[in-house]
Amino acid sequence: MSEAETRPPRWPLLLGIVALLLTGALALLGGWLWVLGGPAGNEARDGGVSYPAASQDGYAVWERNDDGVPVRWDPCEPIELVLAPDGWPDGTRADLEAAIDTLQRASGLDLDVVGTTDERPSGSRLPYQPERYGDRWAPVLVAWAEPGEAGLPLRDIDRGVAVPVAVGADGDRTYVSGQVVFNLERDDLEPGDADRQSSWQATILHELAHLLGLAHVDDPEQLMYTYPGEGPVTLGDGDRRGLEAVGEGHDCRPAPAADAVEVAPAP
Ligand SMILES: [Zn+2]
Repeated sequence: MSEAETRPPRWPLLLGIVALLLTGALALLGGWLWVLGGPAGNEARDGGVSYPAASQDGYAVWERNDDGVPVRWDPCEPIELVLAPDGWPDGTRADLEAAIDTLQRASGLDLDVVGTTDERPSGSRLPYQPERYGDRWAPVLVAWAEPGEAGLPLRDIDRGVAVPVAVGADGDRTYVSGQVVFNLERDDLEPGDADRQSSWQATILHELAHLLGLAHVDDPEQLMYTYPGEGPVTLGDGDRRGLEAVGEGHDCRPAPAADAVEVAPAP
């Protein structure tokens, strides 16, 4: 899910297809489970996929499991991030750290940068790469890239894109991996938190909130508003309730064991 423009888009978007980007069959524990790719484009309502409306509490999530709780990460394990070092604009590493700190405080989840990698983001990235990361789900890849690099659903106008990956049977899914990729060509944005409209920190915070499970809302007071708003970079009340809803206030949710996954090509 990405932040793209400061005004509504002028044409229907081809992307925004949550289930198709990384949907594949996963043979695991003798059964067929599904890998669900996160939102790809910046306008989820286009592309023929409908998302649940924002709750009365002012937030929206990509999906809920059968127990009514949003699809979420295991709150009892750190969410590991690995950074591709190329291309980060000056100051944006500090923005990442600030965004992580904000999200940890709001959600109670532990986001842990575990190192750097020479892996590049890709529209067909596998969430299980034992040769690179060992016998576990691949950490979330955070990178800067050119629009369209390696089939990424990142367009010229996008600021970034977040693709969380959930595994498990329908109605019983858990996030286990993903990618968060920012647009190298958006040199109109600046590091820092002075203004949502032009801030990389706001963009990083917004995309990482997508990674944790939040979707857009139609409320300019929230950072999860579809379009970058104005004013200082802060979470709105709805954002905070959403982060609590996907946060540590629920039981542990051990992820299925990592295993080979088929990944469909990006649309
Ligand atoms: Zn977004």
